[in-house]
Order: sequence, then C-alpha cells, then structure tokens
Amino acid sequence: TLRVADARLRRRLGLAMAFPDHTNNSMGTSDAPLDVLVIGAGFHGLYQLWRLRGAGFRVLLVDGGAAPGGVWYWNAYPGARVDSAIPDYEFSMEPVWRDWQWQERFPGREELIRYFEHVTRVLDLARDMRMATWVTGARFDEAARVWQVSTDAGDTIAARFVLPCLGFASRPYVPDLPGLSSFAGDCHHTARWPQAGVPLAGRRVGVLGTGASGVQVIQEAAPIAQHLTVFQRTPMLALPMRQQRYSAADMAELKRHYPEMFRRRAVAQSSYWDISARRAPAHAAPVAEREQLFQAAWAAGGFQFWAGTYNDILAHPVSNRLAYDFWRDRTRARIRDPRLAERLAPTEPPHPFGTKRPALEQNYYEMFNRENVALVDIRQDEPIVAIEPGGVRTTRGFHALDVLILATGFDAGTGGLTQIDVRLSDGRALSDLWANGVVTHLGIGIPGVPNWLMLYGPQSPTAFCNGPTCAELQGDWVVECLQYLRAHGLTRIEATADAAAAWGAHMRVVAGRSLLAEADSWYMGANIPGKPRELLFHPGAQEYLSLCRQSAAAGYAGFALA
Ligand code: FAD
Repeated sequence: TLRVADARLRRRLGLAMAFPDHTNNSMGTSDAPLDVLVIGAGFHGLYQLWRLRGAGFRVLLVDGGAAPGGVWYWNAYPGARVDSAIPDYEFSMEPVWRDWQWQERFPGREELIRYFEHVTRVLDLARDMRMATWVTGARFDEAARVWQVSTDAGDTIAARFVLPCLGFASRPYVPDLPGLSSFAGDCHHTARWPQAGVPLAGRRVGVLGTGASGVQVIQEAAPIAQHLTVFQRTPMLALPMRQQRYSAADMAELKRHYPEMFRRRAVAQSSYWDISARRAPAHAAPVAEREQLFQAAWAAGGFQFWAGTYNDILAHPVSNRLAYDFWRDRTRARIRDPRLAERLAPTEPPHPFGTKRPALEQNYYEMFNRENVALVDIRQDEPIVAIEPGGVRTTRGFHALDVLILATGFDAGTGGLTQIDVRLSDGRALSDLWANGVVTHLGIGIPGVPNWLMLYGPQSPTAFCNGPTCAELQGDWVVECLQYLRAHGLTRIEATADAAAAWGAHMRVVAGRSLLAEADSWYMGANIPGKPRELLFHPGAQEYLSLCRQSAAAGYAGFALA
C-alpha cells in the first residue's frame, strides 16, 4: 500500500528519486556492522547522514516512510503547512539553499516534500537510505559492542551506534472513543492521511480536535464540505500567520541576507533568526509602549506574538494575562455570533496564553461565520457518548458524518521511541525505564542504553526549538561526540544514572520557572491518559546548548566512556 501511495505521490509532485534496496546487503551485518545506523529521514536524520558520512563513518539511514521528509511525509492532510517561516525552516548549508526557490513564506506540505527531495539529491544521500522500513526492536550485544536492530522486513541491521531521529510526532494518538471502529465512512488520523487524498468536497465532514493540525484542516475543509462539524475540547489560541507569496526577485533579495539570518538563528534564544523577546516584564512596561510592541508582533505574524514581545509572557501571570486579553479582543472581533465567540475565544483564558503550542491561522475564525460550519464544544456543552456507523452521538444529539478526521495529536516526545522494543543492557524495556517519567542525560543519552544517542528527543529543546536549527546545532554536538570517541579509540558511551537524575532535576527547575506546567498540554504529556505529567521539552535552547558544550568540553561529563 505504501509503495502504491508513494508512486502516486511521486507522479503528482513530479518526484524522480529512487532509493536502492538495501535489504540483505553487506552493510550492517554482524560481520561488518555499520558505524552508525540513523533512524528517520527528517531534518535530523538527513543532517546526521550527511555529516557523519562526510566525516568518514559508514552510515545507513532507515525510515518507515517511502519518501524523505519525516513528519511532512506522514502529515498528508489537506492544509498541512509549516508554522516556521523561511529561511528558518530550511538547512543553512549553501549548496542546499543556493538553487532552491521557495514559493511561500510558510510553505505547504507538498513544497516541503519537494524540498526534501532536493536536499537528498544535492547532498547525494539516497544511496545510503533505506526507505519504507520500520525499526521494530533493538538489542545491544555487550560482548561485541554492537546493536542488533530488527526491522519489519524481517532482517536485522548491526551497527555500533544508533541515532534515533524520530522527531517528537512519530506516534499518532487516537483517543479510545467507544464505537470508533464501527464508523462506516472515511476515518483517518491527520498524521496517517492517505497519500492519495480523501475527498471532502460536498461531504459531511467532522474534525475531532483543534490543535495545530485541526486548525489547518478546518480551514481547508470548511469552504468545500457540504457541512463541517468541529468537535472542540479546548479552544486553540491561534495566531495570525500572515502568509506571503515569494517571487524570484523576493527570493534573490532574501538570499542576500541568508548567511546573516542563519548566523543569528544559531545564537537566538528563540531559535528563530528574527524573533527575540525584550528582556523586561510586560506588566511593568508603559501601556503605550506595550500596546505598540504587541501590535507590531501581531502585524508581523508567525510566532512573533508568542515569543517576540516580552520575555516574561510565559512566566508571569499578569504579563501572560495581558497577552491573552490582547489576543482575545482581536480574535473575538472576527467572530459574528457572541456565543461562538465565547467558545472560541473565552473571556477567561482556558489556560495561560502560549502554554499550549499556538497554531498559525489564515482565516480560521472566519470559517465559523459560515452557514455550513458548526462548533460542538465537547467539554462544556455536549460530550461525546459514542461513535456510530453514521456519525457522532453526543449527550445532546447526533451529528451525521461521511468523513471523520482525527486531528487528535501525538504521544509526543516519547511515543516514537517507546513503540520500538528497545532493550536496556539488563534486558528491561525502555518503556519500563520511562514508565514513571523520562530518564535521560541532556535528552541525548539514556542510562542503561549505551551507544544510543537521541536527536530532537524528550528532555531537549525539541518542540520549543525550530526543527532545522536544532537539527544543525544539536546535530553538530552528536557528530563531534562520535568523532571524539573515534579519535580516542573509545567504543562505548553511556549516560550515567547520576547525570540523568541531575538532568531530571534540572528539567523540573526549568519547568518551575514558567507557567507551562499549568496547562494540560502535550508539552506536559497531559494529552495521553496515564502518561506521567512532566515537562517533556527544554524551553531554553541556548541554555541547553551551553550545557551540552560544557559537557563536551569536560570530556563528555555525565557520560561513561570506554
Ligand atoms: P521527523 O520529521 O518527525 O522525522 C522522523 C522520521 O522518523 C519519520 O520520517 C518517521 O517515519 C521516522 N521513524 C519514526 N519511527 C521510526 C521507526 N521505528 N522506524 C523507522 N522510521 C521511523 N517544527 C518547527 O520547527 N516548526 C513548525 O512549524 C513545525 N510544524 C509541525 C507541524 C506538524 C504537523 C508536525 C507533526 C510537526 C511540526 N514541527 C514543526 C516539528 C517537526 O517535527 C520538526 O520541524 C522536524 O520535522 C523534526 O525533524 P526530525 O528529523 O527530528 O523528525
């Protein structure tokens, strides 16, 4: 199915790239283990493959998707689009950006898929990539100091080091709704959307969830569906995107500044080249000055209003409330029905502003002014009772549907890792080690799991860091670590239990500095029933990188090397 879908996608997007069949070849056998197995063909995995191969390591990359792109391969739903602007959302290597022309400030999924093919071609990566292959398990052979990594193709790949580059959204979450499997129409999670598409025009469509994906798919579905029912649990505090189209002349002008923009994003607190918050409390600022700064960020669009005003918005309740009120008043002005306005942009904040990941919207709120769109508040007004073959039954009635879209998010941060049967040196499963909370050092190493270095994983900046920025900065640290081991004749690296305990304590201190813990967000693991509640990502990219550099400068402090 994947291969058929892939062939259709290729035709539609005009992709030409072929990936060799690496099954059962001499790379990665027990006799000739790879130096490094990279799992994942998103920004992080591609960067690792390119840099490590260039440094002389024997590397293979595997990915469950049929084409590179990571999340952008899987999130094929209508309207999928990145919320980081160009050039933040691209690699900084000149050979990659020189000949690539973006069409939009915030590119859509199809443009991103084409970009990933361009990256793969320019960096000549395909020859060391094995696609449409899921990693299912991994065991470390201590005597040989080699990982044996099993795949869904039934074979095993041997590698000295494994770099999981699984992103934070590799495991979609589907709530346990009674009767869900009985639904007779089309039902898909946004992150498992069929590559060939699903018709929405003229049909009765339901969207469950109003996170970032929900907002995007709602904007696409509302104008074409016969009727759209949006099932909302928590209102999304969405921010204006301010999309722009780029001409060739715009791109040429932008590219004159690319080197400086990339230099700035690498040192920015926000990880975005042009987003920086004033180091002053919003609540103490003169009213006129604050209004002006809020207004400028609002007009600039993107994440500016989230991260580019005052640096205490996510930390101080009064400052936070000022930002919320500004957002609420501007948003309500766009919604005609006062009852709907109260549900979509309530008088009182449903959670502190910005403590859940804001979506960027283009005309989300106007969609609710349409005759064919209905909002069903499943927390306050009519909870879901069951899914039935013909639609959704709530406590107040029945909503007939032809299509049910599950925009229900992810088991973020940890789910992609724990769905692989990773065994610790003592035989325990990784999922058992993390049953009461994540245990890592720097979000990179795990005690009991040697030679396994995570990128964009839990307890590192990840969801608070622009993807490509992290791929390059955290990525360089991992590459340099492997070079260090090789240069010193070392074959084993493992985070110590003491360092991991200290890192866990540091994460709790970091969480305590902000209002993040007050929201039931996926940042806190709170969207998954039974998942330990903890801050899963480090909100200070530069603080984090500085601690990583300190560890490296001290000979990788917090890791046992052998
Ligand atoms: P990913 O791109 O997630 O790639 C991981 C890859 O690992 C996938 O291809 C998957 O198939 C593969 N994989 C996972 N498990 C296995 C396995 N067991 N075996 C084989 N392969 C496996 N970030 C931003 O900075 N800005 C944004 O605006 C933004 N928008 C986003 C919108 C959506 C809908 C989603 C889901 C994420 C968004 N992100 C955004 C985060 C995004 O994950 C990062 O930007 C970036 O793509 C991370 O790259 P990555 O290489 O770490 O992982």
